[in-house]
Amino acid sequence: MVQQQGALSQEALFDSAVESTIKDLLSLNLANIGSAMFKIQARILDIDTSDGWYYPSCPICTTSMAPELDAFYCKEHQRQPPHLTMKLSLYIGDNTAKTKAIIFGILAEKMSNINVVGMPILGDISSVRLPNIAETILNKEYNFVVGLSDEAFRQELLNYKIFAYKAINETQSSTCSSD
Ligand SMILES: [Zn+2]
Repeated sequence: MVQQQGALSQEALFDSAVESTIKDLLSLNLANIGSAMFKIQARILDIDTSDGWYYPSCPICTTSMAPELDAFYCKEHQRQPPHLTMKLSLYIGDNTAKTKAIIFGILAEKMSNINVVGMPILGDISSVRLPNIAETILNKEYNFVVGLSDEAFRQELLNYKIFAYKAINETQSSTCSSD
């Protein structure tokens, strides 16, 4: 059996996250959240691809790179051959409220069954269509661990990032407690 790297840390995230609802998350004060993680149960309502769904990222620090002439530049590491990082902007909802949450990288690729390797590297990636297979996550319910992203801190926006997820399996409903 292959040991999945990251599987443990995903479990650890679920263990340490505070049970919450989207309504509660939206009422929190950005300054008080810090690195706190929250566990919510929510359904994926829609995927927003208006800003693209992957981006060229620095191979050293993974931040987004800016296109310039025929090359890509990282603010810190200058000219680098870009990697691609998936970024899915999801609308999620529970029975208290709806919000947008972003899922990045390998986690996003795993959830959507899409691999960004080999996708075109363009200055404007928003024209590249998200493969239909991503739609399989629509209307599915998940347990999510969310927290604020570094970008949310920088921009002082209450934008949540998904740090871990578990699909809620239809055959083992979490509300079932008969045995
Ligand atoms: Zn960099």
